Amino acid sequence: GANRAKNVLILMSDTGGGHRASAEAIKDAFRIEYGDEYRVFVKDLCKDHAGWPLNNMESSYKFMVRHVQLWKVAFHTTSPKWVHSFYLAALASFYAKKVEAGLKKYKPDIIISVHPLMQHIPLWVLKWQGLQNRVIFVTVITDLNTCHPTWFHANVNRCYCPSEEVANRAALDDLQPSQIRVFGLPIRPSFCRAVLVKDELRKELGLDPELPAVLLMGGGEGMGPVKKTARALGESLFDKEHGKPIGQLIVICGRNKTLSSSLQALEWKVPVKIRGFETQMEKWMGACDCIITKAGPGTIAEALIRGLPIILNDFIPGQEVGNVPYVVDNGAGVFSKSPKETASLVARWFGPDSEELKKMSENALKLAQPEAVFDIVRDIHELSREQGVISQISSSLTSSFFIPSPEA
Ligand code: UDP
Repeated sequence: GANRAKNVLILMSDTGGGHRASAEAIKDAFRIEYGDEYRVFVKDLCKDHAGWPLNNMESSYKFMVRHVQLWKVAFHTTSPKWVHSFYLAALASFYAKKVEAGLKKYKPDIIISVHPLMQHIPLWVLKWQGLQNRVIFVTVITDLNTCHPTWFHANVNRCYCPSEEVANRAALDDLQPSQIRVFGLPIRPSFCRAVLVKDELRKELGLDPELPAVLLMGGGEGMGPVKKTARALGESLFDKEHGKPIGQLIVICGRNKTLSSSLQALEWKVPVKIRGFETQMEKWMGACDCIITKAGPGTIAEALIRGLPIILNDFIPGQEVGNVPYVVDNGAGVFSKSPKETASLVARWFGPDSEELKKMSENALKLAQPEAVFDIVRDIHELSREQGVISQISSSLTSSFFIPSPEA
C-alpha cells in the first residue's frame, strides 16, 4: 500500500572504522527521525564470499596501509582510468554480482553508498536492470578534503559532501549544483546529541577528577606512532621539579591488541588508562581536553563536536592527507609527526599555553557539524517524497547469475 515502509540499502566496506561508522550513523538517524517509515540495511560488499581477488579486502587494506608506498601507488594509479586495470575489472565484476544479490534481497527504494568504489558499479547494475529511475541513489562522501575521483558519479540523485572543499571537487567533476549538498560528515547520533558533563564522565570512567587529560588514539586499528607518543607523554606530563603529574593520559588502542599489551607492560609516572576497542567514544572524548590521532575523518569530526583541539600525528597517504590542512588551516589543531614535539606541546597546553588550547577548542566547535547526519537523512526523505518512489522493485528481477563485463 501507499504507506509501506521504504527500504534503504547502505553499501559499505569495512575497511577501517570510518565507513562502517558512517553507515551505522545514517541507519540510527533514520530510526530516530522516521521510525518505521524506513527499513535500513547495511551491506558490507566485501563480506561473506569466497575467492580471489577480494576474499580478504579488510586484511589487504590493513596490509596496504602498513606498506605505505604500495598504497600510494594503488591510490594514484587508480585515479584517472580506474577500471582499466585487471585488478579493478575483477573488482567490478565481483561488486556487480554483490549488488545484484543485494537488490534482490533488500529490494531497495533508496541506495546510499558510503564507499569510494561503490558508485559506478551499483549505478551500472541499476541501469542494466532498468531500475535507474525507480531507485534513488545517493553518495555520502567520508573524506573531509582531498578525495578520490571514484566518489563522484554524474548519475547520482545526490552527492553529500562533508566540506566545501569536497563540494568544489564534485563540481569540477561535472556534478550539478542540484546534486551537491554540504552538511558535514555523518557521525553517530549517540555522539552528536549526547549531553555530557565532563566531571561526571571522569567519575564514570575512573579518571582523575582534576588533572587535564589527553586522549591518544589511532583510528579503529590503533595505527600511527601511538607507543612512542605515549612514552614521551609519560615524561612530559611529569613535573620533575615538584615530583607530581601535570596531566593524565588515556590511550585507546582500538583493535590493536599488540599495542595495548605492550603499553600495559610499561611503568608510568603519571595517571594512565590504556583501553582496547571502545564503543562509547563520545564519553572518552567528553572526558578529555585534547586529542592526538592520525588524520582519520571519523575521529576528527567527532573530536570537533566535543571541542577537542587535535594534534594530528600521521595520515594514510592519499585519502587522509587533505584532512590535515582541514584541521590546521581552520585553527582547530596542529600537525606533528614527532612524538617528542607532540608531548612537549601537550605539556605546554596543560601549563603556560592554556589560552592557546582554549582558542583551538573554540575553533574546533565552530567547525563541528553535529547535525550533519540528520540533515542528510531529512534530505533523502525529501528526495524520496519528491520522486514519489511508489513501486517496490518488481519481483521480476532476473534470478540468473551473470558475469558482467565491466566495460559494457
Ligand atoms: N573508534 C571506536 N572505538 C575505538 C577506536 C575507534 O569507536 O576504540 C571509532 C572512532 O570513534 C571513529 C572510527 O572508529 O568513529 C575511526 O574512524 P577514522 O575515520 O578516524 O579512522 P579509520 O579507523 O577509519 O582509519
